[in-house]
Amino acid sequence: MADPLHEELASVKRQIGDFFQLDFENGEIHLHSVKGRAFILPTETWVTLRRELVETFKEGAIPFMFQIGYAVGSSFIEEMKKVDPNPEVILTKLPEVAAASGWGRFTITGDTKLGREVTFSVSRCPFCHRIEHAETPICDFLVGVLNGLSDNLFQRPHEAKETKCIPMKSEVCEVTITEVTEKTAEQRHWGSYVLFPWLFNPKR
Ligand SMILES: [Zn+2]
Repeated sequence: MADPLHEELASVKRQIGDFFQLDFENGEIHLHSVKGRAFILPTETWVTLRRELVETFKEGAIPFMFQIGYAVGSSFIEEMKKVDPNPEVILTKLPEVAAASGWGRFTITGDTKLGREVTFSVSRCPFCHRIEHAETPICDFLVGVLNGLSDNLFQRPHEAKETKCIPMKSEVCEVTITEVTEKTAEQRHWGSYVLFPWLFNPKR
């Protein structure tokens, strides 16, 4: 299937130095696009982290990973908005940023203007890397990232669901975000951690 975005990413052949600069003396990695630092977490460490969280917190690990992801996605958008607040522009840049950060190959389809329903398809997803088999989708961190990212980007609450996951014998991990008029039961349950300030703004 023709994938113009992938062809574009493949043809540009960007190097890691195009996005990050290593200050070896001070042990810092600086971002080029926005002011800030980054650090590297090996995917193998992520696998261990996830396994330990599941062993310790059982099903509680799922909302835990989701909440961490939500904050990451929301704060990422805060930074991106400083460059250009237009959601369509940010979502156009996102695959390149994701690729440069080792987050896999993103394809984004749907209503990228208003965010009523958007699907993020991720091949080579790092968050389920090396996991051979799963009965249910397991990229809870990624789901949280895309939920936080979408809520902040479109300033509306969304529900995010992973509908395909590579360890479930899929080619890609796929997360669909859908705008909701009010919080879902799960969002209400975890409401003390997930904030939707605009829901409490009487002007909207
Ligand atoms: Zn997945």
